Amino acid sequence: MNKPLILVVEDDPPVRNLITTTLKTNDYRYLVAADGEKAILLASSHNPDIVLLDLGLPDMDGVQVIQNIRSWSNLPIIVLSARSEDSDKIEALDAGADDYLTKPFSVEELLARLRVIQRRLSYMTAEMLAANSVFVNGKLRVDYAGGCAYLDGQELHLTPIEYKLLCLLSKNVGKVLTHTFLTQNIWGRNWDNDVASLRVFMATLRKKLEPTPDSPQYIQTHIGVGYRMMKVE
Ligand code: CA
Repeated sequence: MNKPLILVVEDDPPVRNLITTTLKTNDYRYLVAADGEKAILLASSHNPDIVLLDLGLPDMDGVQVIQNIRSWSNLPIIVLSARSEDSDKIEALDAGADDYLTKPFSVEELLARLRVIQRRLSYMTAEMLAANSVFVNGKLRVDYAGGCAYLDGQELHLTPIEYKLLCLLSKNVGKVLTHTFLTQNIWGRNWDNDVASLRVFMATLRKKLEPTPDSPQYIQTHIGVGYRMMKVE
């Protein structure tokens, strides 16, 4: 397999150096852009496998870069932003980013996030090759055509909202979905702030899905941001 090509978009030299050094020593290839315009240019001309994107760029907002890329490509985007910028992170995820890293981050965190995206990519390729409408993840099986889900061969008795939630998460396995994305997809545009209801349904879904709901295996919580279904080995 070819070494994955990562587009690093970061205007801060120390952070950029940390990232490129990490990539180099871990068998990735990379391209570098220090502003949004070059990022968009390189993304379209070099077709990278993953984009690491700082949100605070000198010439434009990182969210604009995401919107531009999303107008022509689904290529995975991991956003880099400071802890104080939770709302920026959420805006970026809603604009189509796949994941985020909070600055300052460690080399291990960076590599872990890249691996999540790579697993998701290889999983999606396998799904497409299988060309069916059944999702399998560990002991979980979702039959989209049949409209039912199974855990360890036993049918899960889900309410319509729990099932919809499970479908959204499984169809985006490995990707962080924001509260807004989930509530809008379940209840429609007017309910995008009903995070409390979302928490209730997530709790009941987990009770049915997770062997130990207190240490969830399938659905990860991103506090203040949203949820993500993890690929279970
Ligand atoms: Ca910056």
